[in-house]
Amino acid sequence: MTFKELNFHSDIQEGLDAMYFEKPTPVQELAIPVIMEGRDIIACAQTGTGKTAAFGIPLVNYLLKTKKETALVMTPTRELATQVIQTMNSLIGRGNIRTALLIGGDSMQKQLKQMRRNPRLIVGTPGRINDHLKRKTLRLNNTSFLVLDESDRMLDMGFTPQINQVLQTVPKKHQTLLFS
Ligand code: AMP
Repeated sequence: MTFKELNFHSDIQEGLDAMYFEKPTPVQELAIPVIMEGRDIIACAQTGTGKTAAFGIPLVNYLLKTKKETALVMTPTRELATQVIQTMNSLIGRGNIRTALLIGGDSMQKQLKQMRRNPRLIVGTPGRINDHLKRKTLRLNNTSFLVLDESDRMLDMGFTPQINQVLQTVPKKHQTLLFS
């Protein structure tokens, strides 16, 4: 099976071509169809097996096909969040979806500027995401996708209260993707 046969939005196909991704990796082959059916998943895969694109491809495809829905990706570390948003921006390619990176230790002014542009895809770490929720500079009332990347590590690092806060804020009807 190639990505072309899966009939994604043309912007994402362009993004895949630009990254020279032709065929899904095993975790992508298993996860992408289930996510596209609208179901929740728990996926375990080793690093380097293509798990970022396993959730990134269906998520960006969904955002390109809808108008106001948003997605939130939480990662345990700033470094991982930075890598994830780079992959997301490559997948979006020329598509009209703005993104924001909300990580600790980074300029709040820069993040506030990003948030004023109404991004539909937010990637960040739990602490800073909660700061924005408290300031009301991040609203999750249109969030239909929640991705917890390296979720086991986030729990080990003590982020349970911040994750619970996010879960209480997102609409009841949303899709949850847990990766570890
Ligand atoms: P990850 O496990 O998400 O860190 O991805 C590991 C590496 O595999 C990254 O450099 C990706 O760009 C690359 N990759 C992910 N999916 C594919 C694919 N379908 N075809 C080729 N390379 C890929």
